[in-house]
Amino acid sequence: MNVAVYPGTFDPITHGHSDLVERAAKIFDKIIVAVAENKGKKPSFSLEQRVTMARRVLQDMTTVEVYPFDNLLVDFTRQHQAKVILRGLRAVSDFELEFQLASMNRRYAPNIETLFLIPAEKYTFLSSNLVKEMAGLGADVSPFVHAEVNAALLAHFKV
Ligand code: ADP
Repeated sequence: MNVAVYPGTFDPITHGHSDLVERAAKIFDKIIVAVAENKGKKPSFSLEQRVTMARRVLQDMTTVEVYPFDNLLVDFTRQHQAKVILRGLRAVSDFELEFQLASMNRRYAPNIETLFLIPAEKYTFLSSNLVKEMAGLGADVSPFVHAEVNAALLAHFKV
């Protein structure tokens, strides 16, 4: 089985993330969306909320599973018998951090490759942070997120 792990904070999951998962689903037998605890980033939604939202959004994709994780990514990847870590590249600005992460992960797990996918053009400017910022200021972000994520954002910001 060709398995890929797609790690991220998913705070919250956006159409950009889903676009990437849909592309990867055409390449891999199974995709594991790994939702990082990521306390350092001070997520707006709890780990449980982020996992629940991602599961809901991706529920129709039969080859996709969503799990939380708070250990080393390469260990999590090995535990799931995956040989590929999937990440998204939106713009050149993503490259530096992604290059650093991929190089560090390769140092610890030379047999695991990091694979980058580019989303549809209409999602290249989209990020969870921007969606939260806009939603917090009362903008309609429904074109960028699943209806349930939109509802969660409205509840979170009480708009
Ligand atoms: P992290 O904190 O690990 O960056 P994110 O949830 O912000 O977690 O992103 C997870 C991955 O998804 C990253 O590789 C990021 O580049 C990618 N990603 C986020 N938004 C998009 C998008 N709109 N299009 C494509 N990839 C995206």
